[in-house]
Amino acid sequence: MSVHVIGAGVAGLAAACQLTEAGHHVVLFEAAKTAGGRARSHYDNVLGCRIDNGNHLLLSGNIATLAYLQRIGANRSLTGPAEPIFPFHDLRTGKSWTLRLNQGGFPWWIFSSRRRVPGTRLHHYLGLLKIRRAKPSDLVAPLLAGTGPLYSQLLELLAVSALNTSPQVAAAAALRSVFAESLDLGGYATIPRYARGGLSETFVDPALNWLRERGAVIRLGERVSELNPAQATILAVPPWAAAELVPGLTVPNEFESIYNLHFKYSLPPGEAGFWGFIGGMTEWVFAHSSVISVTISAASRYADMSAQDIAAKVWSEIASAFSLPPEIPVYRAVWEKRATMLATPAQMARRPKTRTNNPNLMLAGDWTDTGLPATIEGAIRSGNAAAQALMSGLNGLSAIV
Ligand SMILES: Cc1cc2nc3c(=O)[nH]c(=O)nc-3n(C[C@H](O)[C@H](O)[C@H](O)COP(=O)(O)OP(=O)(O)OC[C@H]3O[C@@H](n4cnc5c(N)ncnc54)[C@H](O)[C@@H]3O)c2cc1C
Repeated sequence: MSVHVIGAGVAGLAAACQLTEAGHHVVLFEAAKTAGGRARSHYDNVLGCRIDNGNHLLLSGNIATLAYLQRIGANRSLTGPAEPIFPFHDLRTGKSWTLRLNQGGFPWWIFSSRRRVPGTRLHHYLGLLKIRRAKPSDLVAPLLAGTGPLYSQLLELLAVSALNTSPQVAAAAALRSVFAESLDLGGYATIPRYARGGLSETFVDPALNWLRERGAVIRLGERVSELNPAQATILAVPPWAAAELVPGLTVPNEFESIYNLHFKYSLPPGEAGFWGFIGGMTEWVFAHSSVISVTISAASRYADMSAQDIAAKVWSEIASAFSLPPEIPVYRAVWEKRATMLATPAQMARRPKTRTNNPNLMLAGDWTDTGLPATIEGAIRSGNAAAQALMSGLNGLSAIV
């Protein structure tokens, strides 16, 4: 009569919502005391306010995410510019510039020197087409070598952020799927989006409320250590946890970290927003009302540096870009050691499908074979797919009728 969903990250939450919407009784198990997994918010004593574990950037083309937010009544919780524009600051030149895509499908922005990446020419953008023919073994950096300043001023940053893997070793095919659902469709699918008031307030709490209101049972702080093969189940835990629960399951087994720094500092009114940084350690800067948050992907390359040295370097970069005082404000560092799977060709080949050998058991999570890198959009799609797959076998499943 009921479906067990194990893991209350966005993949498990999406699966639980899909099943509940279809009239099934869901019991959602989460090992941690709070839901959200790798996309969560918490109150920070040092900063005296709530922060996210890390900035999460989405795009208007993330259709499964938008549909999920609509379903749980949180569709107004994302914010960002109304246009497909991305402000950048180049630490090497000290110059700021803004990438301004046009809304429609034909990319006429690349013909305008005021809209495209500074110093780029048309042939650099043509080099980008190689990504469409990327083979599973192709790597991002070598494949895009011919894109010159387009690579060093935009693509390198996009690749490392989207794949959380050094472009030297990242699978180009993984980036192809990102471009196919954003740039290739046009600016309307590439409008930046991020949580207005926190990841938990956006992706997690509204979903838990929505589920509870519809009779789902949420069991926080309950780690599942064994699966009942006869019970209809969606396993939406990280890959290492799935491998423990399903003997013989092949899963990605190499991971990359993401480093987040949250500085207690308010930019003047009107300065709230986000920026991409090029040529330094800082990659993305999000200015919230009282905190400036910085994200650094593929952060294992900085494993030898102390938190203090990283904070000093990053703050010096931000201070130079925004003309801020050199003293480092109070800060909190959040180093997510296993933020995502490593998006190398070898690791991509280890992603399992939704279905397992047991028709009662489906897999979900950003690390499953979603066709997308390990992202919120991929995680939500995986949850939807797992719920659909389980429901399609409904008649044959005694536990779920
Ligand atoms: C710092 C950071 C920045 C990121 N930035 C972006 C971004 O900008 N854009 C983007 O789209 N994505 C981003 N991501 C990736 C995104 O957060 C993940 O893809 C997504 O949250 C994964 O969701 P999930 O449900 O697949 O997995 P998880 O969030 O890992 O959820 C799995 C859940 O299972 C629980 N669990 C584990 N074992 C058990 C067990 N035995 N029993 C019960 N429960 C169990 C865990 O506690 C966890 O809550 C970022 C991730 C991090 C860490």
